[in-house]
Amino acid sequence: MAGHLPLYKNHVLFLSHSFFIKDNQAELLLHAHKYDFHIRFFHELSEFVDAVERDHGDSLYLIDLDALYNMQSDMHAKRKTLLLGELLQRLPADHRYVYLQSVRQGSRFILQQRLVDSNCLAFAEKPIANDVLVDKLFNLFVQQKRADLVRVAMLGAPPGWDEAALLAQRMEILYHTDPQTLHLRVKESQPDIVLITDVEFERTEAVVRVLKRNIEADPVREIILLQRGTDPALARRALDSGFDAQFDMDDPDLLARRLLNRADKIRISRDLIGKDRATGLLNKVGLQQKAQALICRAALEGKPLCLGVIDIDKFKTINDTWGHYFGDIVIKRLSLTLAARLEEGDLLSRFGGEEFVVVFWDCTLEQGWRRLDAMRAAFGANPFEVAPGDVRHFSFSGGLAAYPAYRSENELFLRADAMLYEAKEGGRNQIRPLPQRIAQTG
Ligand code: GH3
Ligand code: MG
Ligand code: MG
Repeated sequence: MAGHLPLYKNHVLFLSHSFFIKDNQAELLLHAHKYDFHIRFFHELSEFVDAVERDHGDSLYLIDLDALYNMQSDMHAKRKTLLLGELLQRLPADHRYVYLQSVRQGSRFILQQRLVDSNCLAFAEKPIANDVLVDKLFNLFVQQKRADLVRVAMLGAPPGWDEAALLAQRMEILYHTDPQTLHLRVKESQPDIVLITDVEFERTEAVVRVLKRNIEADPVREIILLQRGTDPALARRALDSGFDAQFDMDDPDLLARRLLNRADKIRISRDLIGKDRATGLLNKVGLQQKAQALICRAALEGKPLCLGVIDIDKFKTINDTWGHYFGDIVIKRLSLTLAARLEEGDLLSRFGGEEFVVVFWDCTLEQGWRRLDAMRAAFGANPFEVAPGDVRHFSFSGGLAAYPAYRSENELFLRADAMLYEAKEGGRNQIRPLPQRIAQTG
């Protein structure tokens, strides 16, 4: 398959028993591709070690421990099978591994202990279904990549922590002093965590209820009481009134550690809820949240933005002619083509099956048309080799709407979708409104 962009963003290098793999390889790959990663299989330890050493990406390294029974030790000519200790020793030490063990191995605590002490990122127990294994590996990819910024709003005096260190761990703190306006600040800045000190809580006990009962409140957001000294009665009252947790703030370093652990959990929930697994892009839920925040920012900074809806042309025919699996690859290639042309501040979402939404930050309708049309041309230039020597090209149609002419995420989407319909009616493989119409209507 041609094209200068790699088809799959992530890779797994898998050292496995050739016997186990024979039946499983094709199915395992099929699942992996849906989740946007590829698996390279190795049956020889030396080849696996070479590949791990040469690998510069953020691949996962998976080892089926049953592979041991299949391998010869080359250190001790007399011994037949490779021993676990020798395997672990030969793995490059600056990488972490995912071990796949049989149930029998898994029930031996000594072995488990040995694994978790040897550069173990995770372990799985066999038998494990292919789709489950792939799903878990995908979660590991999500956790490995550069973390999203977690925003914390704090009501009350700073506890004296190392803010630069928190920021380096992708956590940003916004301080607020007035309990009466905290809900407004939360609405505008959409923090992931809200911290309220015991002093502020005692001054205004209703503060957490006001945040929680808002019908639009983000259910993932955590509201945490920060308490000095011990007063179980106050903590109890806080938890009853809606706080999710209570943290001791006497030791700022401990507090920072607790918050960072919390941030990791929040990131995982956000990814599970707001991202499409096959492409890693935002899904409908994730887009709605981010687009609303971006529109607020556009209003604050007086900037335009442009929302585009994209739909692949005659996709049913693609599926019917070359199969659903090929259709999925076309979707993936489109997502890579679009992602490669994003700029800082833009959003990209796989909104539904073969439909995508882009939001161009600081962009007028006219500029948006040019950018989306360039994406259309780039996708159309992608060659797809449907059979040896048979290269096809596919297309999409797009509709656009711009803020501030359309003011909410919903209005923008409805307008852009109506424009998409015009593009389909107008013969497909085009972006509407046409530039001459933009020039007329502004
Ligand atoms: P049009 O040019 O009018 O958009 O024609 P179309 O055939 O693309 O029509 P439409 O957009 O209505 O159909 C989309 C089809 O895409 C319907 C569904 O079978 C298929 N589809 C939806 N999600 C997926 C997916 O994740 N993978 C694959 N392979 N097919 C999907
Ligand atoms: Mg469609
Ligand atoms: Mg379509």
